[in-house]
Amino acid sequence: MVIDVSGLEKSESREVVFDETVNIPKNYVDNSSIPVKITGTIEKDGDGKFCFTGNVEAWLVLKCDLCLKPFDYKLSTTMNEIFCTNEDEQKDIWLFSDNKIELEPAVVSSILLSFPMRAVCSDDCKGFCHVCGKNLNEGLCSCNVSNNNPLFEELKTLFDDKEV
Ligand SMILES: [Zn+2]
Ligand SMILES: [Zn+2]
Repeated sequence: MVIDVSGLEKSESREVVFDETVNIPKNYVDNSSIPVKITGTIEKDGDGKFCFTGNVEAWLVLKCDLCLKPFDYKLSTTMNEIFCTNEDEQKDIWLFSDNKIELEPAVVSSILLSFPMRAVCSDDCKGFCHVCGKNLNEGLCSCNVSNNNPLFEELKTLFDDKEV
């Protein structure tokens, strides 16, 4: 995922499109090779300084927080990154050399920064019975308790309060 910026003049920009796969640490996702689509522009800001702005779409396989089943999740985010040939006093920049910008680390970092706080396979995932551990999406268990997760019920009351 390399952008060649040779020949770009100051304030000139070039369109960038990538349809590739990236690798994300296994503890985040269930698929090790993630299909991504990047569309954006690279612009020369000054000598050895380039700005990339664009959109990222990534097709992830996440594990449901409630029932642990892997499910497909499409993530969309934006990127706004600065690439420099030498480390100046600026923070949050990416280094590159030889007119070749490797975009992949910046893409992976944008994906990780916009991961969902809570991953749930579907709005009505029932999760596990908190008594016997059965996956309640596969049918009810015979535990003589309400199948409502007490924690969830508690959260619901909290939200109800907030709406007032
Ligand atoms: Zn689930
Ligand atoms: Zn049960």
